[in-house]
Amino acid sequence: MPLDLTAAESRSAGATTAAVKPCGECNLCCKVLRVNAVEKPAGVWCQHLIQGAGCSIHAIKPEECSRFQCFWTVSDQLGEEWRPIRSKLVLWSNIEGRLIVDVDPSSPGAWRREPYYSQLKAWADRSRPGHLEVLVRVKGRLYVVFPEEDVDLGPERPHISVASGYLVEAGRRTPYARFVEAPPAGATA
Ligand code: SF4
Ligand code: SF4
Repeated sequence: MPLDLTAAESRSAGATTAAVKPCGECNLCCKVLRVNAVEKPAGVWCQHLIQGAGCSIHAIKPEECSRFQCFWTVSDQLGEEWRPIRSKLVLWSNIEGRLIVDVDPSSPGAWRREPYYSQLKAWADRSRPGHLEVLVRVKGRLYVVFPEEDVDLGPERPHISVASGYLVEAGRRTPYARFVEAPPAGATA
């Protein structure tokens, strides 16, 4: 299935609309994501999380926490098997056309299990309309998913962007991905 992220992206960015599905017992985003405002690194439980009770600073939690909604909560295309606490995957985005998959470091192989892996490959198929640039972050490493292969970019580099696509040589298409510095102010495409 193509993943229509239009509604999900707008809610992820603004989160002013009620989520489609309640988070329930899941707190996985409080583990997998980096939260600068509380100096929480990615991949460890937040010091403000009380298991079973939720955020202990709910009334004053950082805006980046208040605004965050993973795609599972806001997309009716993602079924129960994609519930983060079950799949061990938190799906979200920071750029239109990109899907970020943050993997629970306690289950680092979760993204390569089925039905997830095949679906990530299908979303990453750039020959299809509505395809996505699929980035997988697991234990500090960054992978860019293509149908043909997963390009391992090595340790993630915060604040450094990623470019990806295909190199065409002698009629042969080869996936590529690399880190790129942000263009200087005033630069044009
Ligand atoms: S990962 Fe998604 S479902 Fe789980 S707590 Fe965060 S927003 Fe809710
Ligand atoms: S501050 Fe609260 S909402 Fe934000 S990561 Fe920590 S426990 Fe989760």
